[in-house]
Amino acid sequence: MNHVVVVGAGLAGLRTVEALRSRGFTGRVTMVGRERHRPYDRPPLSKAVLSGEADDSYIGTDLAALGVDFWPGVSAKSLRAGVVETTEGELGYDGLVIATGADPIRLPGDGPQHVLRTLDDAHEVRAMLVPGARVAIIGAGWIGAEVATAARRAGCEVTVVEAGPAPLATAVGAEIGARTERWYDGIDLRLGAMVDSVDEGGVRLVGGAFVDAHVVVTGIGVRPAVEWLADADIDLHNGVVTDERLRASLPGVVAVGDCAAWWSRRWQTRLRVEHWDSALNAPEVAAATLLGEDAVYDPVPYFWSEQFGHMVQYAGHHPAGERLLYRGDTEGKWSAVWLTADDALAAVLAVDRPRDLVQGRRIIASGQRLDAKRLVDPEVSLRDC
Ligand code: FAD
Repeated sequence: MNHVVVVGAGLAGLRTVEALRSRGFTGRVTMVGRERHRPYDRPPLSKAVLSGEADDSYIGTDLAALGVDFWPGVSAKSLRAGVVETTEGELGYDGLVIATGADPIRLPGDGPQHVLRTLDDAHEVRAMLVPGARVAIIGAGWIGAEVATAARRAGCEVTVVEAGPAPLATAVGAEIGARTERWYDGIDLRLGAMVDSVDEGGVRLVGGAFVDAHVVVTGIGVRPAVEWLADADIDLHNGVVTDERLRASLPGVVAVGDCAAWWSRRWQTRLRVEHWDSALNAPEVAAATLLGEDAVYDPVPYFWSEQFGHMVQYAGHHPAGERLLYRGDTEGKWSAVWLTADDALAAVLAVDRPRDLVQGRRIIASGQRLDAKRLVDPEVSLRDC
């Protein structure tokens, strides 16, 4: 293989380049990125960058030392076997890495609407989070909760509009989400409220109510950024479909990060997770696969969120669980655990209990069975259950 083209200069794209080099690939590498920035981490955008503790989150990698020809501000437009067409012309490849991440979903309406996906977005929103500003956040998911945290800290008057019955309901279910409702103290949290449109001066709800706002931030989820592949001869279904080696259906092509829907050997289903850990670790497998080595991507998915002074961490795949149990109550630190029908751990969500997360993740990987009676005692460590 002489030339690898990487489309997408986020964490997953960059890590794939690093993995190729560390595995001894000495051929040409070209990395094409729609943004004008060199690669940076996104998790700090809704945390340190939004709150003003940091101005950027660039990843400290020397692109020149990696020998990568980086094309910032260039988008891939289409793909045919062996050729990527970009806004700057065609690029032939022997190996292709699709690492285009995901794009935020926007709501209808002519009013100014912000999203939080890029470093530029974070700076734009940050400049508007001033004391007394009325901020409407649409969506009480991971991003919405983190933006609400920063807005509240900045002294804004915050309204959060959520279509579901509880915060985080889409991500982890309404029962667990309801446990986080108390964190929205001082915030006008509107549950079960559907947005009709984002208009000048605020948000119109279905039914006619209007939420006045100087700033509207929409955090209702993302879609895999694969529109540029619409006419390509490659399987797409909720992202780029890959096997457990991250191989796409077109020869010589792998996909990683938020845009990849890979076959999970562990859960026997297709997974697409939009989390940093996957963008960090899947590239090792993608690089190995491109180089013809034998590697399988079979993680216990992991992510975290920092909201309202709480560290929320999750590992596993809760749809594989049948029973939901709790360790600790909502007043303090607590965890939710999902058990399968035969008492294996499917997933754990830990609130300010990092030990439950670390031990839970290992237990999920090992397949160890747990004693449900001991499990509900927060004083007993998970590994002893
Ligand atoms: P991206 O980081 O999205 O990178 C893809 C890049 O490809 C982008 O720069 C994009 O512009 C570019 N691109 C897209 N289309 C094209 C094209 N056609 N041509 C060229 N380039 C293209 N995860 C956690 O686990 N914990 C957290 O606390 C957390 N916080 C987050 C906070 C925010 C604000 C955001 C946005 C995400 C957060 N995440 C978090 C998720 C995590 O950051 C993502 O899972 C990770 O960034 C995915 O990396 P990626 O490289 O796959 O995609």
